[in-house]
Amino acid sequence: MSNHQRRPETIAAQLLHATDAATGAVVPPIHLSTTFVRDANYETLIPTDYQRGGNPTLWQAEETLAALEKGAACLLYPSGMAAIFQLVETLPMRGHVVAPNNMYYAARLWLQKLEAKGRITLTLAGLDIASTIVPGKTKLVWIETPSNPMWDVTDIAAVATAAHKAGAILGVDATTTAAVTTQPLTLGADYVFHSVTKYLNGHSDVLGGALIAAQKDERFAELLLMRGKTSAPLAPFECWLLLRGIRTLYVRYRQSCNNAMAIARHFSNHPKLQNVIYPGLSNHPQHDIAKRQMTDGFGGMMSFLLNTDFAGARNFCASLKVVLAATSLGGTESLAEHRKTVEGPTSPVPDNLVRFSIGIENVNDLIADIEQALATV
Ligand code: PLP
Repeated sequence: MSNHQRRPETIAAQLLHATDAATGAVVPPIHLSTTFVRDANYETLIPTDYQRGGNPTLWQAEETLAALEKGAACLLYPSGMAAIFQLVETLPMRGHVVAPNNMYYAARLWLQKLEAKGRITLTLAGLDIASTIVPGKTKLVWIETPSNPMWDVTDIAAVATAAHKAGAILGVDATTTAAVTTQPLTLGADYVFHSVTKYLNGHSDVLGGALIAAQKDERFAELLLMRGKTSAPLAPFECWLLLRGIRTLYVRYRQSCNNAMAIARHFSNHPKLQNVIYPGLSNHPQHDIAKRQMTDGFGGMMSFLLNTDFAGARNFCASLKVVLAATSLGGTESLAEHRKTVEGPTSPVPDNLVRFSIGIENVNDLIADIEQALATV
């Protein structure tokens, strides 16, 4: 059976069924060398002579991610932010970018910074992102679905059609769907992005970003060149840890989804809460799109709007004893975060919002912990 025919769980668990040709090792070796020797004909043995141009550990991780996202090729970077802004760097001067208001705040802030410098023009859109695309002008439509931290769900196929009609490309931040429950490239996106720091590595010990392209086109060639000349690929040890994380991606992700659904249901009518925002709940405003687009669970991310204020929401986080009060998402451990504290006073995020990344622990421990912390509100 070729890798093409294997199902994603098999691809992930066996890392494309690759074993080390030199030794037969089932666990991939790690290639730390920054430089690669030339042979008697003064040719390199592999398609690189220097680590900035790539190395076998990097390529194994990139090939695995490209296969999981059903893309043509993948590029890994030393952070998610680095990956996003290398893609933005491929746009022409003052190229028009459309992005949602509700998205990962650091990426939004940097887009605004680039706009202020005259590098791009920017429209930050509400839910109806397609209506802000300008035919002939918009170059990049960027969406995040479900989006941080309000978990709006965007119809990828509809936005892809609108973007392509206008001559723009569509990039999708799919960090929270983790290649498991949604494959944006199959719905028409041109680039799918992951902060691999999150679910793909899954153990809160690697910082990295991935761009996976639908096609190996001119833009992809520019990205590859730009990374080699001005930046760097993800370092070998991080690639190796990422590969180790990917092996268990599906079991981890599904357990997080199951835990998150149980928690969302349990707390959905809690007297200390105004609302539980989770795409898997039938009262979520885009639940119908989520049902269609998230084919293998509704993810591990949710937010609570508490019946309290800024200080009360912070105290709630500090009162948790099993769930850790920390930023980030997608690890085995559950995390809770008061987003307004992190994003600062100009953030549109409500003061009473607490974001959860639900991990793979026993769900009854998580529920009991959240109950005891809510009792302090
Ligand atoms: N996109 C999303 C949805 C994120 O949550 C993050 C990080 O929190 C990023 C992008 C940026 O990724 P990184 O922190 O790996 O640079």
